[in-house]
Amino acid sequence: MSDKRTGLIIVVSAPSGGGKSSLCQRLLNWSPNLVYSVSCTTRAPRGGEQNGRDYTFLTREEFERRIAAREFLEHAQYNGNYYGTPRPFIEEQLRAGRDVLLDVEIQGAGQLMKGIRGGQFAYPEALVTIFLMPPSLELLETRLRRRATDSDETIRKRLAIAEKEMAYWTEYDYVIVSGHLDDDFAQGKAIIIAEKCRSARQPKDQPWRQNELSF
Ligand code: 5GP
Repeated sequence: MSDKRTGLIIVVSAPSGGGKSSLCQRLLNWSPNLVYSVSCTTRAPRGGEQNGRDYTFLTREEFERRIAAREFLEHAQYNGNYYGTPRPFIEEQLRAGRDVLLDVEIQGAGQLMKGIRGGQFAYPEALVTIFLMPPSLELLETRLRRRATDSDETIRKRLAIAEKEMAYWTEYDYVIVSGHLDDDFAQGKAIIIAEKCRSARQPKDQPWRQNELSF
């Protein structure tokens, strides 16, 4: 048990097109205590994406400089581009007692599980991992095509990656089989509430401060 309540690092992984962005958005709208960790990437912005809100868009040179400077809590290459989670933001938010939501693919999630639980970070108990599982590959393909932001070639590659990623669900603390957004949201919310109520996460001397839990 800790002396002071710190926030959670909530990791959500799902194959691309699996409804993850919508779920994350619903969770962020629900909880004023939950903030989104904006990742850095070297991929080009898609239509409507804003630098600093959806991603921080970097050149490969700048991304590699930040890797060398150990500025990422985790980073991975996905579909030919780098993606990474900036470390200082997460630390600041946890210290302030806020929960941080991370949208990362499986390699990054694996690094976080190993690194954070292995004690390479100040908050080893903060991590909660959720895998959002598409009900089928066929449905995933339909969703990716409906999104119409990627070429056929990219969609094919993403589906091949998705199939491999889906095998990793066993590594995660929780699995949500993606259905209607309302149901996904209800499950995501239930997970966060339950995690915040764990006895191990209450301040050692004052468990009755439970009613101060903010979502
Ligand atoms: P997209 O290009 O579709 O926005 O994202 C591709 C994949 O990269 C998604 O699975 C997304 O979860 C993942 N991703 C986004 N940000 C990060 C990050 O900071 N680290 C890692 N490892 N993956 C990320």
